[in-house]
Amino acid sequence: MAPLKTSQLNILPRPAHPEPGMDHGRPEPGGERLPRAVAHGRLRARAPEPQTEAPRGRALYPFSAIVAQEAMKTALLLTTVDPTIGGVLIFGDRGTGKSTAIRALAALLPPMRAVAGCPYACEPGRPADSCEHCRGLKSGKSIEASIELPVPVVDLPLGATEDRVVGALDLEKALARGEKAFQPGLLAKAHRGYLYIDEVNLLEDHLVDVLLDVAASGENVVEREGLSIRHPARFVLIGSGNPEEGELRPQLLDRFGLSLDVVTPTDLETRIEVIRRRDAFDRDPQGFCQQWKAKDVALRRRIAAARRRLPMLAVSEEALRRATELCLALGTDGLRGELTLIRAARAMAAWQGASAVEAGHVKAVGVMALQHRLRRNPLDEARAAVRVERAIEDIFGPEKVAP
Ligand SMILES: [Zn+2]
Repeated sequence: MAPLKTSQLNILPRPAHPEPGMDHGRPEPGGERLPRAVAHGRLRARAPEPQTEAPRGRALYPFSAIVAQEAMKTALLLTTVDPTIGGVLIFGDRGTGKSTAIRALAALLPPMRAVAGCPYACEPGRPADSCEHCRGLKSGKSIEASIELPVPVVDLPLGATEDRVVGALDLEKALARGEKAFQPGLLAKAHRGYLYIDEVNLLEDHLVDVLLDVAASGENVVEREGLSIRHPARFVLIGSGNPEEGELRPQLLDRFGLSLDVVTPTDLETRIEVIRRRDAFDRDPQGFCQQWKAKDVALRRRIAAARRRLPMLAVSEEALRRATELCLALGTDGLRGELTLIRAARAMAAWQGASAVEAGHVKAVGVMALQHRLRRNPLDEARAAVRVERAIEDIFGPEKVAP
């Protein structure tokens, strides 16, 4: 059989039932056909319905009600200001609210506009970043027919098959109807949102390879049966895991922009507050959310303001110099350390409403941007975070700058 072009493919609707645990994903499309105007050639996709409330009406724990865990909250917020920072790796205990925090964060973000009928939720008016379906639309039409979708958070479970992750060709359909069909996978669902992998250090090697490719190119390429299907897949990767249960491959480690350790709070007052709020939420989710709504709205506005400010922020000479000195002192490989450090510092400056990126912003994000990029030093058994803190103190001085 001669290979078909992607434009001859049928794109299957997403499954009628959401993935388990995916409680804030994109809404699943209904069964109706697309308006004729949106259908393009023989590539037919089903339009996701606009969504105005949380899926299945379930309340999500508000982000602003999360007690302590300041490093985790800051890192996650910085990725909303600048998603190109490149993801967050969270090490630490189970039951520290990582999954809650990510879902709460996505719910906090303003809904995204997407091309109606696009199976990948492409951004309207950006043909260069779009899938084949959207590139085929005339400009203007795509903006006209756009819909609002919540920012997706997609779980990638450890046991997931490669087909489920990258998408699958439905051969049954091919045999029955004489046409080939592509079923988008989890990478497609996570486009423009968050891909969350719990215990990322236990992820199978072949899936790690897929993630590395997609993270580097921003595109998912599926090659099967003489067909090549590609679609944009840009997401913020959030991984969590316990390093004692398995090491992360250095290439994957390097892909994460920021990393941090979370621990169960040990002081009495903090623990009491965690339990008090969780209990209040469980007893009356709607009432609890109402109580925190104003704080969540304020956070959302602050994120929006920081995003607007971000492209205007210049990096001061001193900030650049200190960032480079820090990476040199720590012996981080390549230039990704410096670049991430500067990006994170810029996001921090935007978040804080500063007018330029100063050395203090570099200092504030130093540990989270660099601690996972250090080589083992046989002469220094200290934890990576401690080594970064010491280098920061050497370079910035203990009280020299504060953001
Ligand atoms: Zn598209």
